[in-house]
Amino acid sequence: MDLEHLALYPFVSEASAEVESLNLSLERLLSSPAYRTARARGVERVSQALEGEIEKPSIVGDTQALSELLSYPFARMLVIAVDDQLFTKRYALAEAKAAHTLLKTESMEFLLEFGEEFGLSAEPQDFHFKLHFTDYIRFSSPLKEAAWKLTNRQLQAGRVWVKKEEFARLLLEAIRERVEKSLSGEGTPSSSDLPAEVLEFCAPYAVELKEKFEVRKKQFGITDFGDVEPELFPPCISHALASVRAGINLAHSMRFAMTSFLLTIGMSTDDVLALFNVSPDFDAEKTLYQIEHIAGSSGTPYKPPACETMRTYGNCIGKNGLCERINHPLSYYQKKLYFKNKDKEEREAAKNEVGEKGETEKEALGKKNMGKKGEAGRVEGTEGTE
Ligand code: SF4
Repeated sequence: MDLEHLALYPFVSEASAEVESLNLSLERLLSSPAYRTARARGVERVSQALEGEIEKPSIVGDTQALSELLSYPFARMLVIAVDDQLFTKRYALAEAKAAHTLLKTESMEFLLEFGEEFGLSAEPQDFHFKLHFTDYIRFSSPLKEAAWKLTNRQLQAGRVWVKKEEFARLLLEAIRERVEKSLSGEGTPSSSDLPAEVLEFCAPYAVELKEKFEVRKKQFGITDFGDVEPELFPPCISHALASVRAGINLAHSMRFAMTSFLLTIGMSTDDVLALFNVSPDFDAEKTLYQIEHIAGSSGTPYKPPACETMRTYGNCIGKNGLCERINHPLSYYQKKLYFKNKDKEEREAAKNEVGEKGETEKEALGKKNMGKKGEAGRVEGTEGTE
């Protein structure tokens, strides 16, 4: 690959070899004015990933190409310093999506060579790629759309036929996996393993990025949900939400369970739609149609499945103590809401008693809590939504 392509696809092994061949000391990279642009672009790269899309520049000349190439190791240092699994997933996905946009415009010859780099060998035929079915399964397994199922593909002598854009889509998965594993897989450094000078360089940016990421999580989790209370969600739904935010495609059954749960507890179709707008395959029109269908556009709204069904489809993830006493994710949420409101009422009542009797708030609350145990037992025995 030429330098421009290495700059645009900095996660390929040839790009790492190119950076190594420059023999740059860490000190120079971190402090020399010659690499200021690369450092700034590294920070920008991670910030853009946080917003969802890394913009690739039009590269003019070797100097810009080198800066773009060197920005990648800087970006990686920052992601390691932020030290958050979801953040790492988000970054890896953004890198893969940016590369995918470019790959779609590359020639078939380039894609074939690129695929080899990731162990995705293919043969060209009639404007298609023919892949061994084991490679196809490996790279298409995260894709849950029916069209990717092996049974829905043309298969000849153990080879699966895919179109050029589909091959590029499989490469997106391969890149995402490589970038993510290189940042959080076995044997990779954690933030505490980074050299002191790297940590010092990264610290101010990492703090800012963490804050921005927390704000984004809250925007998704609280503001956009209106009166919905995400901190009270059952573990299965919280897990599905975290996966969606990290850009992981959900199995169809979990997608249905999460969507119907959120709609039932009062989230709007637009808010649910916004949640899915991080998926690499996001198709607003199609997703909105599916959400509206679950919301009842064609008659009756669908209810989320009970725990037993969730277990059958392998969607009961993170079961905890309260899960033992309910049999529907909505019951979990109802109970959590009940306890939260009850607690709030008791605190307010205790405050009033402080005013009327001159007791301390702690004393008043202590009295209330003495009778709470038996009452909680009664509440847990009430019927939830089935
Ligand atoms: S037991 Fe029910 S509510 Fe709890 S994690 Fe499993 S499916 Fe969700």
